[in-house]
Parts: sequence; C-alpha cells; structure tokens
Amino acid sequence: MSLLLNTSVARIERSAQGVDAVTLLQDGTSRSVQVRGGVVLASGGLNRHAALCQTMLPGANADWCPAAPGHTGEAHGLARSLGAHYGTGGDSHAFWAPVSIRTRADGSRAVFPHFVMDRAKPGMVTVNQAGQRFVNESTAYHLFALAMQQQNHAGQGGPAVPAYLICDAEALRKYGIGMVRPGATAGAKSLQPFLADGYLTQADTLEQLAQKLGIDAAGLQASVARFNGFAATGIDTDFQRGVTAYQQNIGDATWTGKSPNLGALTQAPFYAVRLYPGDIGASTGLATDADARVLDGQQQAIEGLYAVGNDMHSIMGGVYTAPGITIGPGVVFGYLAARHAVARARV
Ligand SMILES: Cc1cc2nc3c(=O)[nH]c(=O)nc-3n(C[C@H](O)[C@H](O)[C@H](O)COP(=O)(O)OP(=O)(O)OC[C@H]3O[C@@H](n4cnc5c(N)ncnc54)[C@H](O)[C@@H]3O)c2cc1C
Repeated sequence: MSLLLNTSVARIERSAQGVDAVTLLQDGTSRSVQVRGGVVLASGGLNRHAALCQTMLPGANADWCPAAPGHTGEAHGLARSLGAHYGTGGDSHAFWAPVSIRTRADGSRAVFPHFVMDRAKPGMVTVNQAGQRFVNESTAYHLFALAMQQQNHAGQGGPAVPAYLICDAEALRKYGIGMVRPGATAGAKSLQPFLADGYLTQADTLEQLAQKLGIDAAGLQASVARFNGFAATGIDTDFQRGVTAYQQNIGDATWTGKSPNLGALTQAPFYAVRLYPGDIGASTGLATDADARVLDGQQQAIEGLYAVGNDMHSIMGGVYTAPGITIGPGVVFGYLAARHAVARARV
C-alpha cells in the first residue's frame, strides 16, 4: 500500500459502473489511479471554501477559525460535478466556538477556542460592547458563539463581535483566561507579554477596564453588580447560568459558593480578552446514505464515491449535543465506507 503525502485530488472519473479513477497532483506531477473499491472523501468540509463561506456562513472570518489549514472544500466541486449535493435541514451550516486571537512571535496567528476552561467559571462574565451580558456563559460553546452572532445582528443592545470575557484577579489566578494559564497574579512576569501585545487588558477598576476596551463603562459596572448579586443567591435570573449538569460540569466543583458557575467579580485588578465567533468545522456536508455513499439529486448512491468526517452532512442536524459529535461519526462512517468499498472491490 502507498500513502501519498502533499497530494491533491484534481479529478474523479466515473463510468457506468461508478467511480473508477482519480487524477492526483503531487509536486506538479499528475498521476492517474484506477479505483476498484471506491474513493472516500475526507477533505475536511466546506467551511473554509471562500465562495461557499460567503453564502452559507455569513459573518464567518477565516482569521477566527481554529482548525488546521488545508481544508479548502475544493474536492466538493469534484463531487458536485458528479451530481452530489449538500444535505439540508441543519440548524447551522457549521459548529462554532468563541475564540480569542493572538499573534505569535514568528508572526503566525494563534486562535484559542474557549471551550470549557474559563468562561463558565466563577468570577467571569461576558459582555457585549454596551457592557451588557447577552448569553448564558456556561452554555455549550456552539450556542455561545451563535448567540454572539445573533446579538450582533439583532441590532438590540450592543454589538457582540467582539464580545469581552471579563474576570477579576482571583478568577485569573485560579482558572487563567484564554491563552493565559492559571497561576498568574498582577505584576507577574508571565502576564507581561499578553498585556504588551494587547491580547489581555488589565485595569484597576471596571470603569477603567471599560474605557481601555472602548465599551460602555456604566453598562459594565451595572452588569457586574447585577451578576455579583446572582453569585450571592446562586441563581442567575437573567440567563439561568449553571442550571444543567453540562453547565455545572464546566464550572468549578471545588467552588464553595452557591453555584459552581457563579462567583462575584470583586478583586482588582480586572482583566478582559476579546472574543470572536469562530467556525470549528462544517456541519452541512455532502448528503450520504447509511454506508456513507454520496447521494445524487435523486437520492441515488453515486457508486464508488463516499464522504466521511466533515465532508459528510452531519448526523447531528447542526446541533451541538455533546463533545465528540464530529470525530465519533467520522470514525464510524469511515469504517462503514471502507467496509462497503472493500465489498464492492470483491464483486
Ligand atoms: C480546536 C478544535 C477542537 C476540536 N475538538 C473536537 C473534539 O473534542 N471532539 C470532536 O469530535 N471534534 C472536535 N473537533 C472537530 C474535529 O477536529 C473535526 O471534525 C475533524 O478533525 C475533521 O476531520 P476530517 O478528517 O473530516 O478533516 P480534517 O482533519 O480537516 O482533514 C482533512 C484533510 O484533507 C486534506 N485535503 C483537503 N482538500 C484536499 C484535496 N483536494 N486533496 C487532498 N487532500 C485534501 C487537508 O489538507 C486535510 O489534511 C475540533 C475541532 C477544532 C478546530
């Protein structure tokens, strides 16, 4: 068996029996490979395909995508020229997460997904540019980022792209924030690079923090005061933060307050990181059957063509149910596709 690296698929050919050859490009050299079992597309989905992104993911920005580069969606054009089509009915064409962004010393961009480590912990709130909370910070990251986009488009309250994840000194020390690891205190050498390049903003008061961020100071002070009241009662009557097992699980089980997700922001200095809604992977993909065979417009299988991973229309319907919703189905349908293709080769 040969594994070809740095190789792209330039053409998929089909005869009456189904897909029977692919043309590969490697270092400028073209080679044709005969197909007996099938071609399995696993090219990473459509969410970084420039044209599709504009129509299907308005508001997405390639700079905010934390996924590895390389998934251009180009192979979908080849599949679609054979009659493949995208699945429909999903709640969203992608899965999302709030991300923060920093430029590394070598000039490359680091995109940090705020999955579970900070935003739902005690002593942390997220506000829009009016300084107002707009989301349950302990909800799933997919819903969090969708809420940022909805808030941004709604025209009510302040824009939420970027939004601001804000914490006090105690929360920073205990949990860290984004790329800033736990353990840092004001004046710590480890904080200096983050402050110097603007990734992290620090101020002695909430009013000064708001001024540095360019957001509404009175709004932020009022939001934090109200949130601190929820921390005292253990009940967030505005957004119901921390009411499900999932939400509590990403809180702090060792916290001695009334809710593992609610703690007041009281200890100066205060800190903030800017959040953006990043697309972490496509949810909409090529429609397939239960063997991962790609379907044409008449819902008939295109013999010998399979799609798995983010290339395959997600069985989750664009809804985030739990961690593993992409790699889990990717592994299962990869197995099913391979099994079907091997059986096809034996006929
Ligand atoms: C930060 C982050 C965290 C995540 N955490 C989780 C998690 O905890 N659990 C989970 O289930 N999922 C998670 N995901 C999602 C998961 O990583 C993806 O769903 C998964 O990696 C997709 O795998 P894939 O094989 O479909 O695509 P990819 O891993 O993107 O691989 C596609 C490959 O195809 C290549 N390619 C593209 N076009 C061509 C072409 N024309 N010819 C040849 N090759 C081509 C690309 O270069 C790339 O190597 C996470 C995603 C991100 C970004």
